[in-house]
Amino acid sequence: MACRYCDLRGIYNNHVYFPITPPSGKMSETYNPSELPKKNHKDYKMRIEQIVAMQPSRTRDALASDLGVTGRSVLLEIESTRFPTCCLVDIMHLFYENITPYMLRHWMESFFKDSILNNQPFLLLSVFGISTRLLNSGQYYILHVADSIQDTGPCWSTWQFPMEHTCGMLQPLPKSRLHPYKNLTNNVYLLELFNNLCYYRKIYEQIFPPISCKDYKEHLVYTNEDYEEEFQLPSKKYTLTLQEVKKIKDHLSATDNSASEIQLNDFEINGIKFGRLLTSGGWTRLEVDKWAHIPSATPEFIIKTFYAQVNYFLVYKYMDQKIMLANVKWTNEVNEDALGTTSFVGDGSTQFIDITAINRCVGFMKLGRKTYIIDEECMEEWTNKN
Ligand SMILES: [Zn+2]
Repeated sequence: MACRYCDLRGIYNNHVYFPITPPSGKMSETYNPSELPKKNHKDYKMRIEQIVAMQPSRTRDALASDLGVTGRSVLLEIESTRFPTCCLVDIMHLFYENITPYMLRHWMESFFKDSILNNQPFLLLSVFGISTRLLNSGQYYILHVADSIQDTGPCWSTWQFPMEHTCGMLQPLPKSRLHPYKNLTNNVYLLELFNNLCYYRKIYEQIFPPISCKDYKEHLVYTNEDYEEEFQLPSKKYTLTLQEVKKIKDHLSATDNSASEIQLNDFEINGIKFGRLLTSGGWTRLEVDKWAHIPSATPEFIIKTFYAQVNYFLVYKYMDQKIMLANVKWTNEVNEDALGTTSFVGDGSTQFIDITAINRCVGFMKLGRKTYIIDEECMEEWTNKN
């Protein structure tokens, strides 16, 4: 028995495993994962009393292995200690390191560098065997993650990442084998002196001269005060076709009535094309007036996601101001199937939009006639729903 939350009993098969259903040919109990024989602080205290009352002997050892308690922990001197609530499950070791990622890589056939080895079907089976039938001694704590969250809150508030990070910082510090602790203390002290140096500005600036903010040439990086977004290289001067100027006029007319009055010939035909966009990371969306075609209806704005492929980004001068546009090719109508995957067939029209309307990056994957949209946000919504 090795679980601190319940009395689930292990079986020995070169290694102790904790199956919920015993493997064929093995005699062991079957457990319902939602009704595990849990133990609480009171149970622990009773068992400890039982054990400490006995003199060291074989009977005591046998009882200890039966109860899962070997003696009284010094931690019980702290009155607020509660077993097993205070010894929570750490998801860093459970999910993010070692076995779980290994198993995932096995399932996703990327464990080996050699694709022939990855494609062996028996590998998948043997790994499945461990995961579903036999949970090894660490992994079965998966069964108690929910208990742990209920007791002590979200996993990120208790996981071991910060602690491991600290240990990782401390590890390389001691250089002396003879006096490692003294050496460690001195080095931590020295580091701390440097950390406090910033409060002595003059000295600090002499040691760490301020790095001047890098000034990019306009053809490498472009932005202006109206935008939080940034265009990035590569860039080139570009002369718009008449068709494109007309599309820019259409775009501007949607928000500015005076644009529709201006003759097409009076529009600027030059701009600077850019290859990349760095978004502000904000959550702007395109708002659509869905009744726009019925003039009498009161506008009702709905939030709808449109997908488009960006052809290029453009810095364009209009009314003595530079605006940042994207030339996009809209997708045809997007359909969602029963599984929540979104796809479309064929392309829609090409249009200019303001780059602030761009919300996020999605992937397109063409399979046969259909193009599938790989949209992280919709996937999240979908997993939350289920
Ligand atoms: Zn358990």
